[in-house]
Amino acid sequence: MSQDYCQLLEVCRDVTSRPMVYVSDWKRRNPGGKAVGFFPTHVPTEIVYAMGGLPVGLWGGDIVVDNAYAHIQQFTCSIVRSTTEYALAGSYDILDAVLFPPICDSAKLVASIWQLNLSNKFLVDMVNLPERLDSPASIAYLADELRRVTGALEQRFDVMVSEDALRGAIISGNRLRAAYESFCAWRLTKIGAAVTLVEASTILRAGTIMHCDDYCPLIEKLVRNVNEHQNTFGGVPVVVTGLACQLPHADFLALFETTGLRVLEDDLFLGVRAAPAVISDGDPYMNLAQGFVKSKPMATRHHGLIKRHELLLERIRHVKAKGVIFLVPKFCEPEWFDLRYLQAETKKASIPSLVIDFEEGPGISGQVQTRLEAFAETLVGQ
Ligand code: SF4
Repeated sequence: MSQDYCQLLEVCRDVTSRPMVYVSDWKRRNPGGKAVGFFPTHVPTEIVYAMGGLPVGLWGGDIVVDNAYAHIQQFTCSIVRSTTEYALAGSYDILDAVLFPPICDSAKLVASIWQLNLSNKFLVDMVNLPERLDSPASIAYLADELRRVTGALEQRFDVMVSEDALRGAIISGNRLRAAYESFCAWRLTKIGAAVTLVEASTILRAGTIMHCDDYCPLIEKLVRNVNEHQNTFGGVPVVVTGLACQLPHADFLALFETTGLRVLEDDLFLGVRAAPAVISDGDPYMNLAQGFVKSKPMATRHHGLIKRHELLLERIRHVKAKGVIFLVPKFCEPEWFDLRYLQAETKKASIPSLVIDFEEGPGISGQVQTRLEAFAETLVGQ
């Protein structure tokens, strides 16, 4: 791998293994700058950039959950449990605010628990996204809500966010999305094909923690000389879908390559990279709202199941995958609600599929490994 790639991976590994150390360093380099955490995934981070702040994705991770059970049930998904444990343990005390999107009942529940128990440490607010995306009223409603959230941040931090600053932040947000896109395209090239799923998830995840001015130059340097030729991939090509806002442990992700599969398309961090480029002229609030409404469908945000299955089939055909794996977080209602329908549609299109559920944290069952190996074997002759 190139020196540019090794450098990028090293930086991203460091940031993702110690995200709050990066936040602390960013604050030291930007005196007075505010760090605003966001619960995955649909929070318009442009608002934070516009006030000169740092948006920080909170993705949970390996922590023994104990104190959080005083507030939430054991049958909530693991990202809700682990982020709450981290927050109660003081791991997020360096943050100045945390924004939640109402992507599911669990996220709404955890937002209110944080508001009750952690508001003495940082501002906790909910960005009330519209439930329906196909109504003409959705855009105006969301634009008003973004104005309200911006006002709450202005008041809390005694700053003014001008519309010009927000237009500039939209340009930064577009640059970040373009970096994600170009990295995902680069993964399909001869050189990029050597990147494992674990490495790709590390690199994409770092983009949700680092400031775009720190992150984008590293990706832009890497992809400058894109090799247009498609690689002859080792492993059976598959698409992975279902990662609404949660990520399995690196040991789990590493199983894909070791069991003879090659993931060519996935939902890794789709929530932060699914919006199209946002128009930077005109009313920035309306433009951000329009960008949200036009985003690619996923379990936590779609216009209806038809568009989601159409996009899934298109992605499978585009990369010539032989099968699809539904990787579904345990206790994640949005993903489990969509699953049956998507399975039926892929079956109709004669695309083999496999369903595997997961939680954050280490520990892989031998059964999962066996099922992946068996699936890879059945696909070989397809
Ligand atoms: S994993 Fe599913 S249930 Fe959990 S917060 Fe995300 S969308 Fe909600």
